[in-house]
Amino acid sequence: MKVSVDRSLCYGSGECVHRVPSVFAFVEPGYGAVLPGREDTDDDPLIREAAEKCPSQAITVAE
Ligand code: SF4
Repeated sequence: MKVSVDRSLCYGSGECVHRVPSVFAFVEPGYGAVLPGREDTDDDPLIREAAEKCPSQAITVAE
């Protein structure tokens, strides 16, 4: 599945980074981002949870 962060929506709460640090990273000046090379991942419930719990709904998960 493919995972992405819309930076225009993200306000940098950092929750995704705490939930799945192997996929998300905090980048200056204060946004969550998908780590390079991790945009295409195996199906992972933790990533789906990160998307569901993102307070600004900035994370998109697509098949
Ligand atoms: S959880 Fe959402 S708002 Fe918070 S850093 Fe991640 S993408 Fe941004």
